[in-house]
Amino acid sequence: MSVRVRLAPSPTGNLHIGTARTAVFNWLFARNQGGKFILRIEDTDIERSRREYTQNILDGLQWLGLDWDEGPFFQSKRLELYAETIQTLLDKGLAYRCYCTSEELEQMREAQKAKNQAPRYDNRHRNLTPEQQAAFEAEGRQAVIRFKIDDEREIAWNDLVRGRVVWKGNDLGGDMVVARASGTSKIGQPLYNLAVVADDIDMGITHVIRGEDHIANTAKQILLYEAFEAKIPEFSHTPLILNQDGRKLSKRDGVTSISDFQQMGFTAPALANYMSLLGWTPPDSTQEIFSLSEAAQQFGFDRVNKAGAKFDWDKLDWLNSQY
Ligand code: GLU
Repeated sequence: MSVRVRLAPSPTGNLHIGTARTAVFNWLFARNQGGKFILRIEDTDIERSRREYTQNILDGLQWLGLDWDEGPFFQSKRLELYAETIQTLLDKGLAYRCYCTSEELEQMREAQKAKNQAPRYDNRHRNLTPEQQAAFEAEGRQAVIRFKIDDEREIAWNDLVRGRVVWKGNDLGGDMVVARASGTSKIGQPLYNLAVVADDIDMGITHVIRGEDHIANTAKQILLYEAFEAKIPEFSHTPLILNQDGRKLSKRDGVTSISDFQQMGFTAPALANYMSLLGWTPPDSTQEIFSLSEAAQQFGFDRVNKAGAKFDWDKLDWLNSQY
């Protein structure tokens, strides 16, 4: 099997250090395995996506030396695929139209909170009759498309970093929205989990390597792979980058985009070197200076840590002085 991995950034900001580190791990794994690294821009969120962010992401990856083999593909140009995919779910009876208003959903959550229950969708429109649907439409309500999630299901996978991960269907928040209502369209705007699975299947992705904040999404996505009777890829959830207080590195920490590091005078080889060691320990743990291709020769998920990776400015400064 030849390895195919992808980076799927959303162009809602400049290339973030977390995304760049995910790119590094994908690239190292692809090069180690003689596989392909694919770039896909996830720009279906029209309100938040900007062309200048896409450009910043492409420039940043190129500057770091993370060349891709296919793409960039743009989700905004692939809407037909998602519409077909949603239609397949509807035809198979695995998805349905939900006409709940935001007020109804809010009331549902309030009632659950009052009973000390975790907020979730209670699947109330799962079995509407055609007459009930027609009545909601006559009221002018717009539908979202929900994919059925079996509360009793156990979803498990062998994560390349975390080992066996098990999720309960019950913890996924009820039937999930895969497309949002949009104008008069019967299908609406596809949402992240649906578009990602449609693309990963279509692009023959064998290994999904992304941050650990996507673990619950992986459980949902596995259910979608099953619905499409598609081969489920391997998953690898890399540890998050933490600030000095042990919290996820965020906008509040000031420096978060590759452009920020560039402006501070860090060089590309030093930053790429630093990111390759953020969560990965090389076989010779005393070796600290690596080019990306040297790191690629030695890279494997067996040496990626489960614990979060603390950002260490002293080490980055030191590496920068070595180049
Ligand atoms: N667009 C998603 C993100 O930027 C992609 C996550 C994934 O790799 O599936 O977080």
